[in-house]
Amino acid sequence: MTKIRTRYAPSPTGKMHVGNLRSALYEFLIAKHAGGDFMLRIEDTDQERFVEGATEIIYRTLEKTGLKHDEGPDKDGGFGPYVQSERMKTGIYMKYAKELIDKGEAYYCFCDKERLASLKTEIVEGKEIMIYDKHCLSLSKEEVEEKLAAGAPFVIRQNNPTEGTTTFHDELYGDITVNNSELDDMILIKSDGYPTYNFANVVDDHTMHITHVVRGNEYLSSSPKYTRLYEAFGWEVPVYVHLPLITDENHKKLSKRSGHSSFEDLLEQGFLTEAVVNYIALLGWSPEDNREIFTLDELIKEFDYHRISKSPAVFDIVKLKWMNGEYLKAMDLDAFYEMAKPYLAEALGEGFDVKKIAAMVKTRIEVFPDIAEQVDFFHTLPEYDAEMYTHKKMKTDAASSLTVLQEVLPILEAQEDYTNDALYQALLAYVEQKGCKNGYVMWPIRTAVSGKQMTPAGATEIMEILGKDESVRRIKKGIEKLKG
Ligand code: GLU
Repeated sequence: MTKIRTRYAPSPTGKMHVGNLRSALYEFLIAKHAGGDFMLRIEDTDQERFVEGATEIIYRTLEKTGLKHDEGPDKDGGFGPYVQSERMKTGIYMKYAKELIDKGEAYYCFCDKERLASLKTEIVEGKEIMIYDKHCLSLSKEEVEEKLAAGAPFVIRQNNPTEGTTTFHDELYGDITVNNSELDDMILIKSDGYPTYNFANVVDDHTMHITHVVRGNEYLSSSPKYTRLYEAFGWEVPVYVHLPLITDENHKKLSKRSGHSSFEDLLEQGFLTEAVVNYIALLGWSPEDNREIFTLDELIKEFDYHRISKSPAVFDIVKLKWMNGEYLKAMDLDAFYEMAKPYLAEALGEGFDVKKIAAMVKTRIEVFPDIAEQVDFFHTLPEYDAEMYTHKKMKTDAASSLTVLQEVLPILEAQEDYTNDALYQALLAYVEQKGCKNGYVMWPIRTAVSGKQMTPAGATEIMEILGKDESVRRIKKGIEKLKG
């Protein structure tokens, strides 16, 4: 059996879009699931779109996400070079383009801008596309040679038939047949000598022995032309998997505007790499059962590309947040603390037992930036309404709360040991003496020391963090509020 070989073939044009990361992940998983090789190829033939630093982003992202490539520009596996601009220098694309010319499957085109501008255009998928009229196909061999010798600028075009049909197979979409009359004679080699993506991807995937090609379905409409190239060369067509579009919550294509369209955006927003990878795996793929949480190793084991769905995948930030929260809960406390530290420091300032507070919030947040609103009351008692003391279930109201706070104040002033346990015992004694429910006493205290309806911990844990002076000060403030 042939070894499965997949490739991630990004163009270094900016950030790592969620869709790109999904392609990389699926390519990685298809290879690793079958014990095959995953390769990185940099597609930098479109010099105009090249963005400084984008290649570094690609390396960093693959490293961080654990999508380790077996071969690539930094790891020779015998199929290099792995950067298209370097491959071009070896003359490989020109060699294959000339082979197609010899076979009558491609031809030189010398048409200038003015002539091209005068040609008919068609609207294809919302874009205005010029359909080349095969004008230069009629040039004789001698005419072509003359022009080349004179140094006339040229491109090389694919020579597609105008009759008949072309059929190709995609794993998700099945057999797709198009009329050849719809296939334009696309450019294979540009006037700057660089191959187009359209040509380079075919030459590279073949010469690098790629067996499975995963990419966005925006390439679906070009695939018949690629298939014709494979057939013209007599090469085997790889398995195509064209992935469905990723949309935002409004079913529009996920774009920069959504604010979370790239891996970098998500990290900046405090998401964990593992959660993002896990979530992206489910953008179009699902296992046989309803399981949702997977480590990368588990994904390798479970991933069957036949289970990828072709319906659009909705990027649901709420779901990702939930998943991130699950990862935070499962995280080891020390590791959590290390990552939460900067967020805690920012919200708390100096002077708190940050590690204890980290343990309090660990199971209560979905992303690190949620920390601020959980813990800000430690730093500053927020303004709150006396209404908050009234709680139906706890059977408390303003009057009962005032009495409780006034009665516990001397206990809390006398208390020396401000640990959670000692405070709890002291208040329990008061509860017993009063013969009421715990909540009847704890609710007003917690309200007074936090000023919040929801807190990451109970009254005594909060007072342990605040210490005696601040706890007493807040209780007194509560009394004033209830009196006023
Ligand atoms: N360089 C192309 C892109 O970044 C790759 C498409 C493919 O995987 O074939 O969109």
